Amino acid sequence: MTRSEQVFAEAQNYIPGGVNSPVRAFQSVGSTPRMIARADGARMFDIDGREYVDFVGSWGPMILGHNHPAVREAVVKAAANGLSFGAATEIEVEVAKLICSMVPNVEMIRMVNSGTEAVMSAIRAARGFTKRNRIIKFAGCYHGHSDAMLVKAGSGVMTSGIPDSAGVPAACAADTLTAVYNDLASVEELFSQNKDEVAAVIVEPVAANMGVVEPAPGFLSGLRELCDKNGALLIFDEVITGFRLALGGAQEYYGVRADLVTFGKIIGAGMPVGAYAGRRDVMSMISPKGSVYQAGTLSGNPVAMAAGLTQLTILKETPAVYEKVNSLGDTFRAEMRKMAAETGAPVTVTGVGSLSCVFFTPNPVKNYTDAKTSDTALFAKYFLHMLDKGFYFAPSQFEAIFLSAAHTKEDLDAAVKTAREFFTA
Ligand SMILES: *Cc1c(COP(=O)(O)O)cnc(C)c1O
Repeated sequence: MTRSEQVFAEAQNYIPGGVNSPVRAFQSVGSTPRMIARADGARMFDIDGREYVDFVGSWGPMILGHNHPAVREAVVKAAANGLSFGAATEIEVEVAKLICSMVPNVEMIRMVNSGTEAVMSAIRAARGFTKRNRIIKFAGCYHGHSDAMLVKAGSGVMTSGIPDSAGVPAACAADTLTAVYNDLASVEELFSQNKDEVAAVIVEPVAANMGVVEPAPGFLSGLRELCDKNGALLIFDEVITGFRLALGGAQEYYGVRADLVTFGKIIGAGMPVGAYAGRRDVMSMISPKGSVYQAGTLSGNPVAMAAGLTQLTILKETPAVYEKVNSLGDTFRAEMRKMAAETGAPVTVTGVGSLSCVFFTPNPVKNYTDAKTSDTALFAKYFLHMLDKGFYFAPSQFEAIFLSAAHTKEDLDAAVKTAREFFTA
């Protein structure tokens, strides 16, 4: 038994499933998690001393690679002044100002502690602003685990095969309508069936929790038009895409304006941070300025803000980061497609920028139904092969491959070579 196996066996006695978030459990790939001791750059090391090239990047935050020296130093320095005050600080204003300068159409921002909280609060703001209750989301898009959003959610929920979670009262999800990703007609139909009742459409501008599914040309701009026509707000859930596709996220990358945007992951550089942001008139609804209540004891935490501010500043001052990670993504996809064509691997490689996915289906993947045609048993074998050879991918077919500025062409070549071995064995 490895030490990871020993620790995981004990973990299961004290923590449900042995993990603090379901997708870490390796359950869907029929294995047990490697217990991670530390990480640096593109590498992670487990407590058994094994080394991995990491393609998860803490599920997104680590766009500069793990343990970036400037981020680490900022955290240590902030911690020396005290961990939390529960009072206003200057650094919160700095972060807010920086993000408003970086992201199109963001005039005001409120910090929270997770992506889940960001989405939950953005939806409350949209409902308060429009005085309407219904929300349109897309099957396979994940927006955190708040009650109203656990309807046809992707990610861990998708892997477990739980369409809706136990413990969510039907009433809490009754105003959540589900459309088909990349299918504007399905959205139009919901709007016409729920005239003057839809507060907002929420979408992952690149769906990255059902594998990675790119928005078809015209899909996001079509949503913009449908929202305008029906008096609803458009919410981009940029918890993954924010500060990743580009400095200004998907709004900048695709040139489509959102009314509200949610952030998480990269915004905290690995610290627990989320945020929701957008139009001044909508954000002015938030308490104490307006009548939509939302609060947080640790929101805008000084140590977390120091981490976020440092990472975001580096991103702003180093446009080369985006050139690098996006071109690494292009290279990875091209090499994997070449490998698949040469070996006859039954896979479809998708992605945009530094987000990729290898779907174990030969069919194109445009939505949740397509994604579900993947051969998850074959994926599990592939995953274990790659892990055994030192390549740490997400332990689920329906998660993204995240690249960082710390990855090299050699890392990618080695991963593709190892994938080739799997498909030719
Ligand atoms: C991760 C994620 C969330 C939830 O964020 P947490 O910090 O895990 O609560 C919400 N939306 C999207 C698109 C995500 O990828």
